[in-house]
Amino acid sequence: MGLLRASEVARSIFDVDYARLWAEGKRAVIFDLDNTLGERRTSTLRPEVRALLENLSARGFSIGVLTNRRWRSVEELTAQLGPAIPVVRMAHKPSRKGYATLLGRLGVSAAEAVMIGDRTLTDVVGANRCRIHSIRVSGFSA
Ligand SMILES: [Mg+2]
Repeated sequence: MGLLRASEVARSIFDVDYARLWAEGKRAVIFDLDNTLGERRTSTLRPEVRALLENLSARGFSIGVLTNRRWRSVEELTAQLGPAIPVVRMAHKPSRKGYATLLGRLGVSAAEAVMIGDRTLTDVVGANRCRIHSIRVSGFSA
């Protein structure tokens, strides 16, 4: 497996086949923040994103966010996500460390997790190095 190759691609977070991922044994979804869960540098979660996250939680998925952003600019978003969704910031993707931290907080193995992000060199490479199923999205689109 090439480290640069995503396990699969999708147009946006709204186009991922979460039902199939669940059927394949995936139990946790890790999202990148910028240009994945929202626009770049956003500090607000759009209603349709909240709805998606609530839907995924209702299906039984654990959810986490892994971002290379610094803490201060992530505080507002973290508050909006609520305590059930852990956020690891300054993750230094593609470093494995942030992924490992988040897997621990979510209580799942790498094989049970998927990583969804828009950047190959950070999101995809990092996930692949950890043997986490990687999904590259074209970007955020509401
Ligand atoms: Mg991104």
